[in-house]
Amino acid sequence: MDTILRHSENRKSAPRRGRFADFIRSSQLRHAAAYVLITFVGLLLLNLYAPMAIRNLLFSSQRTAMTDKAQLMAASFSSYEHLDAETVREVVHSVNDLHTTRLLVTDPDGRCLYDSQTTGSAEGKLTLFPEIAEALSGTDVVYTRYKNDLFTSKAAMPLMAYNRLIGAIYLLENDRDQAELLSSLQKTLFWISVGIEALIILLSMLFSILFSKRMRNVLQSVQRLDDGDYSVRLPSRGNDEVARLGKAFNDLAQRLKQSEDVRKQFVSNASHELKTPLASIKLLADSILQNEMDEATTKEFVSDIGNEADRLTRLSAKLLELTRLDSSPAEERQAVAVAPVAERVLRMLLPQARKQGVTLDLVCGPAETVLASEDDLYQVLFNLVENGVKYNHPDGFVRMTAETDPDAVTIRVEDSGYGIPNEAKPHIFERFYRVDKARSRKAGGAGLGLSIVHDMVLRNRGSVTVEDRPGGGTCFVLTLPTPAAEREETP
Ligand code: ADP
Repeated sequence: MDTILRHSENRKSAPRRGRFADFIRSSQLRHAAAYVLITFVGLLLLNLYAPMAIRNLLFSSQRTAMTDKAQLMAASFSSYEHLDAETVREVVHSVNDLHTTRLLVTDPDGRCLYDSQTTGSAEGKLTLFPEIAEALSGTDVVYTRYKNDLFTSKAAMPLMAYNRLIGAIYLLENDRDQAELLSSLQKTLFWISVGIEALIILLSMLFSILFSKRMRNVLQSVQRLDDGDYSVRLPSRGNDEVARLGKAFNDLAQRLKQSEDVRKQFVSNASHELKTPLASIKLLADSILQNEMDEATTKEFVSDIGNEADRLTRLSAKLLELTRLDSSPAEERQAVAVAPVAERVLRMLLPQARKQGVTLDLVCGPAETVLASEDDLYQVLFNLVENGVKYNHPDGFVRMTAETDPDAVTIRVEDSGYGIPNEAKPHIFERFYRVDKARSRKAGGAGLGLSIVHDMVLRNRGSVTVEDRPGGGTCFVLTLPTPAAEREETP
């Protein structure tokens, strides 16, 4: 008990550092870290992909708009064979405002005829824009770039009239609105992602801490159980894995407690039973040594010592049998004919029965066969018939009958003895239980015979019950499966 207390105190004062180290090592934290990492990668991809997809969409819409504008402009010049600055100005003004940042129109040599930009106008000069050079060589140029929160779109196209090159147009458009929209979208997405990730980290940590606390509780309880504290219980509310673990743990602790109680009870009863004959032997031996006795009395005392030693031997044999039943598996079951085993039992008990004036009777045909361990069957029948003899009146009888049906053989062991009172019947198969202690002890019993019967019958998949015999006495009803019944069960 002391050790248990010391252990639990040590645990209670376990340094926080240890708990932290446990938490760091916990599988739950590793799971949480995995969730955080996975969501981080997901959000990172979303942050990279979504703005890129939107940018591409905007690029393509910008390019389409620029192409449309350039084509509209080019179409306006298609009816002129030759371009001069005046004509171009008129045409440009006749077209609705195209909302471009800059519009240039050149002649076929690349000289600028019109420039919408007034400061630093290129009018009258040779334009050196590569886009215009490409347009003059007959290729349409359209592209959009995104840099420094600005969409820059350029388009250049040759101006054709009657299959002749009469010049080129060049459009430039700087779009800050759409660029700002894109950048604000990027920023919003980034901050939402940061928020989500922070929330995930927070919740993961919270769940990890809660879960590790519950797991630590489970581990500590297992440790306490290991230290022998069977009163420990875990909270089993809810239906998750830890709650189910808690329920299983509580059942286990309960069963361990019960088996520990049974073990303690068994040890204390066994010690008590062994102590009594040993005390008698010591008393008788002391009496012989201390008193001047005549030879007849000494012989009587020595014979009593012999009887007590016999009792000890029987008791030890039964205790050994019970330990064997608890620890070793059942012997291989096989088809056993009941009659020869029953005859052997009666032969063995005949001298004792004769001594007590009890007759033994057997009604059993050769067909009655059970599936059981032969040694177990012998021991069970022996204990039942021996009790029938021990707890009987002189001139009484013990009768064993066996009858079979396809599934089971029913063996009845009846006697004309003292009978068992109703209130004792539920306890009759318990270890060390005796109805009439004085009578049982006189008969040499320690209350173990029927518990051996019970355990052996159970491990041979049978059953045993007790009832009153009509006309006085007791009747034990034993059923054991037939080999045929077992064959049906295992297809
Ligand atoms: P024991 O070794 O004392 O006989 P058992 O376990 O065989 O122990 O039996 C338990 C108690 O049940 C006995 O002490 C006795 O009081 C009672 N008992 C068992 N068999 C019979 C019987 N056939 N008739 C009357 N009482 C019986």
